[in-house]
Amino acid sequence: MQTLEITPAAEELLLEDAPHQFVFSFHEGNGKNKQLLGGKGANLCEMTQIGLNVPPGFVISTEACLTYLASADKSLPAGVIDQVVENMKAVEIATGKKFGDAENPLLVSVRSGSALSMPGMMDTILNLGLNEDTLQGLLNHTKNERFVFDAYRRFIQLFGKVALGVPDAKFDEVFEAQKHKAGVKVDIGLSAADLKEISRLFLQVVKDVTGKPFPTDVYEQLEIAIKAVFNSWTGKRAVDYRREFNITPQMANGTAVNVVAMVFGNMGNDSATGVAFTRDPGTGENIFFGEYLVNAQGEDVVAGIRTPKAVIELKTEMPSLYQQLEELRSKLETHYKEVQDFEFTIEKGVLYCLQTRNGKMNATAMVRTSVEMAKDNILSKNEALLRIKPDMLEQLLHPRLDSLHKSIPLAQGLPASPGAASGVCVFDADRAELLGRAVEKVILVREETKPEDIHGFFASQGILTSRGGKTSHAAVVARGMGKPCVAGAEGIEVDVKLRQARIGEKTLHEGDYITIDGGTGYVYQGVIPTVDPTFSDELKLLLTWADEVAKLKVFANADDPDAAKKALTYGAMGIGLCRTERMFNASERLPIVVEMILANTEEERKAALDKLLPIQRQDFKDILLAMAPRPVTIRLLDPPIHEFLPGEDELKEELIHLRHLKDTAAGVSNLTNSLRLLHAENSMGALTAFPFNDKGVELIDQAIVKKEQMLKKVHELHEVNPMLGHRGVRLGLTFPEIYKMQIRAVLEATAECQKVHIDVRPEIMVPQVCTAEELVRVKAYVEEIKAEVQAQHNVTPVFKFGTMIEVVRACMEAGELAKEAAFFSFGTNDLTQATFSFSREDAENKFLPLYAEKNILHDNPFEVLDTNGVGKLMKVAVEWGRKEKPDLKIGICGEHGGQPDSIRFCHQLGLNYVSCSGPRVPVARLAAAHASLGEAKNASL
Ligand code: ADP
Ligand code: MG
Ligand code: MG
Repeated sequence: MQTLEITPAAEELLLEDAPHQFVFSFHEGNGKNKQLLGGKGANLCEMTQIGLNVPPGFVISTEACLTYLASADKSLPAGVIDQVVENMKAVEIATGKKFGDAENPLLVSVRSGSALSMPGMMDTILNLGLNEDTLQGLLNHTKNERFVFDAYRRFIQLFGKVALGVPDAKFDEVFEAQKHKAGVKVDIGLSAADLKEISRLFLQVVKDVTGKPFPTDVYEQLEIAIKAVFNSWTGKRAVDYRREFNITPQMANGTAVNVVAMVFGNMGNDSATGVAFTRDPGTGENIFFGEYLVNAQGEDVVAGIRTPKAVIELKTEMPSLYQQLEELRSKLETHYKEVQDFEFTIEKGVLYCLQTRNGKMNATAMVRTSVEMAKDNILSKNEALLRIKPDMLEQLLHPRLDSLHKSIPLAQGLPASPGAASGVCVFDADRAELLGRAVEKVILVREETKPEDIHGFFASQGILTSRGGKTSHAAVVARGMGKPCVAGAEGIEVDVKLRQARIGEKTLHEGDYITIDGGTGYVYQGVIPTVDPTFSDELKLLLTWADEVAKLKVFANADDPDAAKKALTYGAMGIGLCRTERMFNASERLPIVVEMILANTEEERKAALDKLLPIQRQDFKDILLAMAPRPVTIRLLDPPIHEFLPGEDELKEELIHLRHLKDTAAGVSNLTNSLRLLHAENSMGALTAFPFNDKGVELIDQAIVKKEQMLKKVHELHEVNPMLGHRGVRLGLTFPEIYKMQIRAVLEATAECQKVHIDVRPEIMVPQVCTAEELVRVKAYVEEIKAEVQAQHNVTPVFKFGTMIEVVRACMEAGELAKEAAFFSFGTNDLTQATFSFSREDAENKFLPLYAEKNILHDNPFEVLDTNGVGKLMKVAVEWGRKEKPDLKIGICGEHGGQPDSIRFCHQLGLNYVSCSGPRVPVARLAAAHASLGEAKNASL
């Protein structure tokens, strides 16, 4: 048997710590490890390993990037260069070419890619490895001068911009000038000689700007490029992007570098480059969606250099390649179980895949693909649900253009990201940001957009470009943000300098209103009204799947019958909060409410309340009927009553005005026709005419008396801290007539419905309760009125009686309260204020932004339920309440009820329902399903 002979050299190697691995060839990298290899790198590895045709290459890890960025002298970590060289050798073998070779040179791309895709935010250099020698080699080898100089000028520009910091505009100027000189419109028209000249001028640009000649050593080029890509991680664009999208280091930390053997889509008419989605990312439809350009390279499609062709045209242009591309499409989707957004290049009839990632889609497309992929058994129903972030559904509530509004479009482009938006035109990103901040609605209008325009996207309602296709930068970014986009509207000529655009005869100036429809691609002048969207069948189906797995029910907050009906269309399973004070505020009712408040005696107050009773009864009846047989939780009056009166300052000013009016009226004897009437506001806030005569003076006097009464009442009712003052059940116990009227209205409405056998489910809810005794008292009113209604209508009104839990003491007394209440509803807005001792307005205006910035408090507790503090109070309340009454129904109303993280917490607490605003209902239904599914997943781990 042969024994292993250990040479002294080998021994030394073995003794040394194995060098840390920073570089992974596409054959060895773990396709699941996006944190280490970046998304692009991991997928290049995975695609290589499942046998797709990926050019050979390797990944330098994000770990190398972070080590490099942290190093004091900005040097690559030890071992990186050796491992790169070693891997380059493997690429040379695989391609049969040599890096820096004067015969058959290998060129590579040096590409960024972090764990999370940040399209266009970092840099990539193509055709690296060109210099005088390799250029000649490539010329000899390909006999294609045009191609070689096309590659060269691209390399110089990208390397110059990314690695040497030469402004892009310097190159663009030269390029445009040469195009002009050659008399051509697009790059494809340039001859080999033109491109050669451009390359020469580009080299000169580099030399002029940097003061140094362009580096010629290919390994030096490679090292500079790797460092430049690493540096782009901390570049302004990338940092802004991460901040805007809340990308934390846990999500993506550092960028990997991918070094990939170049394949050339610009070698002639048998070559092409393209971008495709396995399904339509705008609608989700299961069709092949993509674009390509013949004889082009890399960025051209995305950058909108020329308007590309739809991928379907490849079917006639290169039938067998189209076939291969279809195969690639289906392999990618079945492998990744997700819609893929991929890049391909055809070099002289050979198809290569250069990148794939999960397709960014809007909510419409996410919903449709989820449902269809589940139906096709690519995904399970639960996977289909989990694939969609609940918050995303909010996008579906984007408005569409009102189809009744007929208007002739100014121009048409490609429908690149659905939704409609109006705003004033602006022609560059900085102006968009400036005007957008001045709360103008703006539409960013550009020839094409570039990654550096990103701040303009944030500031705009929508994007319009005159060049580029559905996979152009503008389209991709807009879709990711859920903003409408019309791309490639070629009829529009944008002039950034003059801040205007010409469309045929018309000129649009900055500040002119336009409307774009990203669903049709039409552009209109002026503002066109929009309508609310309707639910697609797919969304309805998806949400029924969600309801099947969710444990929480989802109710809506709705204060009037219209809101209730609307909530039903969103799938609300009940009303969790109906605020009766909103009904008091309607303009024809407020005068009666004011009368009630001004009342000096119980009689006077009752008289006013008698007028309110039928009105409230009708309100309740309409809501109960709309929701039958679903529960409707009606909250008795909550705010302090002075909220229904005008403010002190306002009243004082009105009084001054009225007195002045009176003087004028009394002093004027000679009336002209035009002065026949003077207007003044009467005590109810409505506009009334005062005739300009004695009668008028009398009316003014009456108004003055009324205002004085109101002012006196305002003084009487003044509270130092109304939030903690005379409100809620406290009010109900001081002025029993008010609560009794409301209770009567509910029970009479109920009886009337029950009499005709309509199954209505009212639930009377008492706000601000802090002791069981309060509930006992209100319950006594309820019992008294119930008996009267029963006698009157001959039916027993069926209802529930319960309490809000929104003060700290209520949580502590939950057991006692549960004896009196059939249900609890957490009012987490007030409970949060009480727990933190923050008043919301002050907190949000004065210190919460700083708290968030300095990470003193991670989230705004008024937006995201504070599980550690408020949540613990809720937990004990649930425990103690259910200990007393095991079937106690418990829910949450208030903003947290529509927030996915808070919903998950409510699920964990074992609540029965959440209640949120109508449009949040779909979000909450999906979030409730996610909460159940998440729990199931954790249990099975
Ligand atoms: P981004 O992340 O901005 O898409 P990429 O690294 O994907 O940047 O590269 C930019 C463009 O260059 C893409 O269109 C890509 O397909 C193309 N590209 C990158 N590497 C190569 C290569 N080795 N051969 C041909 N084209 C390439
Ligand atoms: Mg890419
Ligand atoms: Mg409250």
